[in-house]
Amino acid sequence: MDRMTQDTRAEAVAPPHRSGRPHSETRPEGALSRDAWGAHLRSRGLRVTQQRLAVLTALHEQGHLLADEVSRAVRTGGGRAADMSLQSVYVVLGDLERTGLVRKVDLGTGGALFETRVGDNHHHAICRVCGFVEDVPCAVGRTPCLDPGATSIRVDTAEVVFRGVCSTCAASDSNNLGVKND
Ligand SMILES: [Zn+2]
Ligand SMILES: [Zn+2]
Repeated sequence: MDRMTQDTRAEAVAPPHRSGRPHSETRPEGALSRDAWGAHLRSRGLRVTQQRLAVLTALHEQGHLLADEVSRAVRTGGGRAADMSLQSVYVVLGDLERTGLVRKVDLGTGGALFETRVGDNHHHAICRVCGFVEDVPCAVGRTPCLDPGATSIRVDTAEVVFRGVCSTCAASDSNNLGVKND
């Protein structure tokens, strides 16, 4: 993928309230390539529509997004699905999640986040200051990752949320405090 093109595009549609988020992500291992989206949709009996492709593209380029951030990205992306309503975005996200192209994660931030990195049981680290989210590889490489020990539930999934302060927020914090690094 052309890095310059991707950076420019992502810059234009970056959500304003999470400035700590990197604007460009390389394709994670767990995600299908763009070329495979169409075949995957058709194999699940879904038509390949501009709306579905636009939502997948937004998530593919920007990583973890709230539904309204997906909506904004699709609108400002200027593609053929730019007039898509928020309600349609929710419907499409539901379809894509059911077909396994999109994963929905709840990190306790007041809304589900969506991403195209699926099937690798990865976890998340989140900055409690700016909300920046980063993927963390599954510790053992397969679900459920963690052994809960004593429980009557037959556990098949463990989702770990790591919380802390990202390097950007940590740096601005030490600047504000007048801490010098030298
Ligand atoms: Zn932060
Ligand atoms: Zn993730």
